[in-house]
Amino acid sequence: MRHLDYVAAADANAALQRLSAKPQEAAPIGGGTNLLDLMKLHVQNPAVLVDINGLPLSQVREVEGGGLRIGALVRNSDLAQHPLVRERYPVLSEALLAGASPQLRNMATLGGNILQRTRCAYFRDVSQACNKREPGSGCAALDGYNRMHAVLGVSDKCIAANPSDMNVALAALDASVHVQGLKGERSVPFIDFHLVPGTHPDKESVLQPEELITGVTLPASGFAARSRYVKVRDRAAYAFALTSAAVALELEGTTVKAARVALGGVGTKPWRSKEAEAALVGKPADEVHFKAAAEAALKGAKPRTHNAFKVDLARRTLVRALSLTAGIA
Ligand SMILES: Cc1cc2nc3c(=O)[nH]c(=O)nc-3n(C[C@H](O)[C@H](O)[C@H](O)COP(=O)(O)OP(=O)(O)OC[C@H]3O[C@@H](n4cnc5c(N)ncnc54)[C@H](O)[C@@H]3O)c2cc1C
Repeated sequence: MRHLDYVAAADANAALQRLSAKPQEAAPIGGGTNLLDLMKLHVQNPAVLVDINGLPLSQVREVEGGGLRIGALVRNSDLAQHPLVRERYPVLSEALLAGASPQLRNMATLGGNILQRTRCAYFRDVSQACNKREPGSGCAALDGYNRMHAVLGVSDKCIAANPSDMNVALAALDASVHVQGLKGERSVPFIDFHLVPGTHPDKESVLQPEELITGVTLPASGFAARSRYVKVRDRAAYAFALTSAAVALELEGTTVKAARVALGGVGTKPWRSKEAEAALVGKPADEVHFKAAAEAALKGAKPRTHNAFKVDLARRTLVRALSLTAGIA
């Protein structure tokens, strides 16, 4: 039997002290809906669980200029239903409600959702080769059953998709992630927070093992209020995305003044597509230009044997999201 220490941290400093004492062996726990699953599968084996639920990080508050600061412990269900989120950032509310089940959303936290691990079946099975779980062991997904895997941001070491719906919305909304360590705080643009696998798929974000996510800021913008999330999956509920798109548009008449586009289900990280945005700005908000943007978004796709269908599905998902957002669907 493995020995496990459990520590309920009273404040951020206590949590950071415990994490810093054993950075490679300790793990913070939020809702536990991902971490405990992976511990049961022996994929993650922390020796110390640092429970951060006692930290004062459960607030959503307005910041100067009309943005929102969301604490790392705000539950996914509370965030989805928050009146200011529904009014100012509907894409975030829709993305959260498209994820998991009501029970899971009641437990899951903002910080834990940002950091949830891939659902790659080879990552979750310790008898399989996986460079993400065990660096240098190989990648069974490359020539395995890779129907759920990524087509963008892939490498010859890893093709695991980032599974989060919420992350796709945060990527589209120009969010920033706030991170705290014993040496102080820093903020990271959300689109730079996660890393593509490259030669080190085990390194998934810029967060250091002894740091905590404390929250996320959503800036005010001219586009966020006109935003939608579309998710395509095998079942109508309780299934991870095959493809998804988070879209925000600011229109001047029928012309796109500003656009934000992010894709889910297809990227090794939440996939912001600046190529699609460039293809939209200054153009009429119509199907012809939405299809051109979708072409641009998937241009660099590198499918494998079983996931080639995702390329066209992602294009169609994006056209659908843009059409709904523009009100022409
Ligand atoms: C059956 C099932 C179906 C699901 N379907 C979907 C779906 O369709 N879409 C979707 O998006 N998600 C889905 N999920 C995933 C779910 O959204 C995540 O499990 C959840 O968001 C994780 O949040 P948590 O707070 O429980 O994380 P935890 O399990 O507590 O933590 C996850 C990771 O984050 C770390 N961590 C947690 N908080 C912090 C912090 N503040 N700072 C630093 N590190 C931290 C932990 O150490 C751990 O490594 C599903 C999950 C299950 C079990």
